[in-house]
Amino acid sequence: MGSGAGSLHRSDTKDSVGKDEGAWPRPFRDWLAWVKGEKGIMEFKPTVDFLKILSSPNTSLQYYLQTIIAEVIRVLNADRCSIFFVDDMRKEVWCVGSLDMEPFCQPWDKGIVGMVATEGKMVNLADAHDHPAFDGEIEKKTGYTVKGILSLPVKSVLNLDKAIGVIQVLNKRSSPKGEFSEQDAVELQKLAMVIGDSFYRQRYKALEEVTGHFDSEVQAVLDQHRERMYLSRQQSPAMSTPPEILRSLSRQPFLREHSPLQVEDLASLNFDVLDQAEMFLQELVPDILRHAGCIDNCGIPEKQLMAYPEAVFRGYRKNPFHNAYHGFAVYQMCFHQLSTIDTFSQLTATQGFGLLVAALCHDIDHPGVTNSYLIRLQDDLALRYNDNSVLENHHASVACTLLRDERTAVGSGLAKEEQVVFRKTIIKCILATDMAHHQSCCQRLIGCHSAQDFKATAEEDPQFLMSVCVHAADLSAQALDWEVAKKWEERICQEFLEQAAKEVEMGFTPEPFMQFKMEDMKQRGKLQRDFVDFVLRPLWEPYAQLEPSLDPCLSNLIKNRTLYEVRRIYGSDQMDSMAESDLDLLLPGMPRGEAPQLTPRTVAAIVEGRHAEERAKSKESK
Ligand code: AMP
Ligand code: ZN
Repeated sequence: MGSGAGSLHRSDTKDSVGKDEGAWPRPFRDWLAWVKGEKGIMEFKPTVDFLKILSSPNTSLQYYLQTIIAEVIRVLNADRCSIFFVDDMRKEVWCVGSLDMEPFCQPWDKGIVGMVATEGKMVNLADAHDHPAFDGEIEKKTGYTVKGILSLPVKSVLNLDKAIGVIQVLNKRSSPKGEFSEQDAVELQKLAMVIGDSFYRQRYKALEEVTGHFDSEVQAVLDQHRERMYLSRQQSPAMSTPPEILRSLSRQPFLREHSPLQVEDLASLNFDVLDQAEMFLQELVPDILRHAGCIDNCGIPEKQLMAYPEAVFRGYRKNPFHNAYHGFAVYQMCFHQLSTIDTFSQLTATQGFGLLVAALCHDIDHPGVTNSYLIRLQDDLALRYNDNSVLENHHASVACTLLRDERTAVGSGLAKEEQVVFRKTIIKCILATDMAHHQSCCQRLIGCHSAQDFKATAEEDPQFLMSVCVHAADLSAQALDWEVAKKWEERICQEFLEQAAKEVEMGFTPEPFMQFKMEDMKQRGKLQRDFVDFVLRPLWEPYAQLEPSLDPCLSNLIKNRTLYEVRRIYGSDQMDSMAESDLDLLLPGMPRGEAPQLTPRTVAAIVEGRHAEERAKSKESK
């Protein structure tokens, strides 16, 4: 180690928590002192939830790492935190958890991480660049500038001589130069001690068990990886790609510093499912069930609770639109309704549980083509279900098959008669997503003349309430914020085009709404505008009238409709100059010269404002 960096290498200084014995033994004593209730230094006070997540055998590696990263960031006010596993068999360090980097691995003699992994001592550098071991390669790759760096070995009590991992934090947010204090180092050591044993187990599962049991598939991936790594080391001694098993732990955007998410995030209309990793969503499935009270009230067994979301996600195919993301989006949107609309409190716990499970599974094993396509082709599914709600019957059947399987029987904790209600609810809710029932559903909503009327109808016929909920959730993508809505639009268009191409190939004429080109934005704008006018508005308008907490959905829908209209006129989502004739189309009645600087967003805001005024007036007149 160079002399210039020596003074910054605080674990070597006399005040260091590590002192002469190295980084570990003294803090370990401190921890024991804390446990014994002696004068403590703990600022880091692990919550019961945090400890539960660490110690539960059901906590996936990804969730485990996220939880630690969130906690480290919170306690230290760090800008970045990465977690590494040390693989001492292969002399490698694996970056398995990071806020903004894909997993990678590197030889363990590289960089500050390598130094910490091999020497087993903590390093606290005010400016990482001053240290000779600092490897600027990651900085170059990510474009993220490192200033202060605090890097700490993680050890298990089983062997305090050996580092099994490294926690590395970068750039303290509250310090202009980004450096971490001695107190930060102490806090991080405490945290590292608390996680030590669970870290050992998680690392073991991920590295040693997987590579040690010679599972042939995993081994093949690893072998490939070794080869790649060998080559990449020859070309440049940098990073290589880890095997699939670790790649699936891809970086997770954090919605908050704390993970798991709070109930408000999970129930929020602004939860952008498409911005999340699939694995992360899968892990949120039990959280929503927990917040909805299903785990306690319906006795969902722990093992099935974990296995079930995995099976459902695997059940979805990788279509552009009808995939696990859509399944989860509908599930989340049902939870949004359950938590914001009072009328749903009439449902029994079993009904609420059935509704959520139905939402999650409502398009499971969707082949990416429509009912008409399957019927036209006399597909096996169409034959099985006699052309009636072909896909929906199939989704319901797959969902119920999962419930019958002992490993994924989430309803097995219910009493026998409740299990019957549960199954019936699931089937009816999934069948209600068939667009063939759309019109009758809208008409029944329009037929409810007041909120009280709707509540009474729901009380009399709870299945109607649940069917509305899941159907509205299924058609909610365009009632979300524009940035999210347009991503879903792109996906459904892609799926339509794939079906149309198949049909053309077989000599059939695709349905009119599938005849467009992806790059024809005018046509796509028109299709969406019409879809909003003729399909979505007739549902969302009466529904929001009866349940005003859904007003934000209707506002989004109206705004998005205008933005699609802009797209239809201009062939893009930008409008550089507004022709007077277009002004009339977009903002009828707007006096010339009074329109403000027009952008798609200002136009949408004006339309939304007008709409709100109209609604207020119509409420007043009632
Ligand atoms: P589901 O197949 O259960 O998801 O039912 C919803 C149906 O609504 C889809 O099959 C599509 O046909 C239709 N749909 C949903 N979003 C759009 C959209 N943005 N544009 C056109 N059709 C849509
Ligand atoms: Zn759907």
